[in-house]
Amino acid sequence: MSRLFLSLLLVAASSISCATVAGTGRMQLNIFSPEEEAAMGIEAYQQQLAQSKVIQSGQQRTMVKQIGARIAEQADRLYPKVTATFQWQFELLDEPGIVNAWALPGGKSAVYTGLLPITQSVNGLAVVMGHEVAHALARHGGERMSQATFMNAGLDVVSALSGDVESGSGKEIALQALGIGTQLGSLAFGRSHESEADEIGLMLMAHAGYDPREAVKLWERMGALSGDRPPEWLSTHPSEQTRIERLQALMPEAMKIYNKAIGG
Ligand SMILES: [Zn+2]
Repeated sequence: MSRLFLSLLLVAASSISCATVAGTGRMQLNIFSPEEEAAMGIEAYQQQLAQSKVIQSGQQRTMVKQIGARIAEQADRLYPKVTATFQWQFELLDEPGIVNAWALPGGKSAVYTGLLPITQSVNGLAVVMGHEVAHALARHGGERMSQATFMNAGLDVVSALSGDVESGSGKEIALQALGIGTQLGSLAFGRSHESEADEIGLMLMAHAGYDPREAVKLWERMGALSGDRPPEWLSTHPSEQTRIERLQALMPEAMKIYNKAIGG
């Protein structure tokens, strides 16, 4: 019975809820509309900012906002349908010990100050922000929430059959899928999403006129830093070596885009 129920859910989902990822064309399961997804992202963002030390002035903050806006502008230009409901926002959070950045559905993103010594330059920061804008653009949060909802639906059926009625609320599941809560950022996205965000982010930064070759250098610095215990941002990520090889394979295309962007 539970199998039949799940099969029906999956058939329904695959027929009505597939979206195409901007930039790669991959089909994804997404049961949320962009509006619903953005509303959840915005609510989660406000909660998160309320608990964080948001930097209100200074050159570093300006840099985060300017680079973010310039990359988001390219996402809007290239994929206007996807980003129509987005409200891009980029904040710098004062946590020198946290080497991390994250993005929520609807274009809400944050960078921790602990990442800046590794990004080092405008181009280095653009690598990170391109990657985060790409997560939002590719609607990875909605995809994760959809997967979690289906897993939860399966669990509900199992719970009902076994007489155990306890299960997480939909909202709780959604927030967990977004990586919000106790483990913010650390379980945010799986490896396939990371690779996809690398690829889309590389092209977006190039379109915005930031040198994509910096991506390889950034991941080399990350690799040198991580040692036995990778920083949070890397915890679900492919190894730096795999990542760098993929980026190098994409570099000729990214350089064409970059040269066009800076040469006019
Ligand atoms: Zn990521």
